[in-house]
Parts: sequence; structure tokens; C-alpha cells
Amino acid sequence: MAEKKELYKGVKGLRLGAVILWILAIACEVAAIYLLLTTNETVLYKLLGAGYNDTNALLYWFIGILVVDAIFCIVGALLWKKANRIKPSKSTNKVVKFFWDQLGVIVCIIAFVPFGILLILGTDKLDAKAKKTLLVIVALLLVGSSAASVDYNPVSPGDSQNVEALIKSHYSPDEYEVDENGDIIVYWTQYGKSMHLDGECYYIADSSTKTSGTVAEAIEAGKADPCDNCMSEIKEINKEELDQMAPLDELTEAPADAEGTVEEAPAE
Ligand SMILES: [Zn+2]
Repeated sequence: MAEKKELYKGVKGLRLGAVILWILAIACEVAAIYLLLTTNETVLYKLLGAGYNDTNALLYWFIGILVVDAIFCIVGALLWKKANRIKPSKSTNKVVKFFWDQLGVIVCIIAFVPFGILLILGTDKLDAKAKKTLLVIVALLLVGSSAASVDYNPVSPGDSQNVEALIKSHYSPDEYEVDENGDIIVYWTQYGKSMHLDGECYYIADSSTKTSGTVAEAIEAGKADPCDNCMSEIKEINKEELDQMAPLDELTEAPADAEGTVEEAPAE
């Protein structure tokens, strides 16, 4: 189905980007672990110059590598979450679904905890004070990148089953269309937020970007909101539940207070 392909366009790229960034994040950690464990003075000398046994110089190296590690983790998770908004995991297994949605957090744990453990176990490369500082930084980076990587509102294709069930229970079969699989067909437009049961609904009748598909496809396209006009019966009943679905638009919306809060200059 051509439209469906169009709908999922970019998902593979987003997932690939996420995986590459996560691999780079773990590579950073591996580099940090190497630096922590290596006794190869030639390598240390190449990296740090004459002061290769200078605990502070080494500390800055660790901090730099781990900050880059955190950035890779966070950007990777953002791409991953965006891909899941467009095409959520179809797994009905709650554990699999959880790990899929929160994969970014798991990567953060993998990308920081082993280094943290090795650091706690001990190193002769850093003095006690530098070691303590680095441990605090590792902990902060782990917590910060994990918090940024959590999907706080994962989308589930199961949401579409609720909407379909509601349509079937509140409208008679001659009020909606179905495709060859028996899935209810709904309509939406490129820039609208709603799905429409009626292809001729006056909100979309004249739109040149009108598309149709299943309810699941509409939700995946970010059109989780049933139309006020042609789906009003569902709208009333299921509003709370539908409000919890995160439309795609939420991800791209600018913060509400992005402008208008200019700090007052002190009076002369
Ligand atoms: Zn409508």
C-alpha cells in the first residue's frame, strides 16, 4: 500500500540513527574503560603528553568522553522515541513493549554503569579526590541522560482498537466504510490533528491533502483526535482516554513560553 509506505517514511532512518548513536555512546564508554584500565604508558603518553600521570589531566579526559557519551545517548533516544510515535511497537507482550519503548534508558544504563562499577572497584590512575568527583559526574550523567531518554507517554497501536470498538458500538455499519480486511477507514489531512469518519466532513471536504487509512494508521500519523463534527459521539464519551494519546505534533511543538519572557534590564 503506497500510502502506508508514505506514512512510515523516515522510521527506518530514525531507528538506524538511534542505533548508530547508541553504538557510538557505548564506544565512548569502552574508550573510557580502556583509559581507566590500561597500563600501556605509550598510549597514555600519546593522549596526555608529558603529564600522562597527572590525575587532573586524566580527569578532564574522562569527563569529556563521558559527556560525549551522554550526548550520544540522549540524541539516540530522541530519534528512537520519534520513530515509536510514528510506528509504535505492535507487541502485545507487556515486557517486550516496555523494553522497546524504554530502550533509550537501557542504553544509558549500559553506557554508564559498567564504567561506574570499575571506578568504584578502584583505580590507581586517579587520586581519591578525583575519583570521587568523577563518580559524582558519572552518576549525574546517568540520571540526566536516563531522564531525557524515558518515553513518558509511549504510544501503543492498541489505542486504535479502543477507537475502532467505540466506532462500532456508536455508529451503525452504514455510517462508516471498511477496507478489505474489515478495518474501519478514516480520513485525515496533512496539517489537521483529527481523524474523520466521514470523508465528506466539512472540515476536510475541500482539502487537497486528504488521505484515508485505518484508525491505527491515523493514530500513527498523529491524528489521534476524533473529529468534533463527524465523530462527536465518540468524542464525548472517550475524551479522557483519547487525551492520553500523544499526537505526533507534541514532539515538534515549540515550548509555550519560547517568546515573550524578556528579562527586564536593571534601571539606571
Ligand atoms: Zn470530521
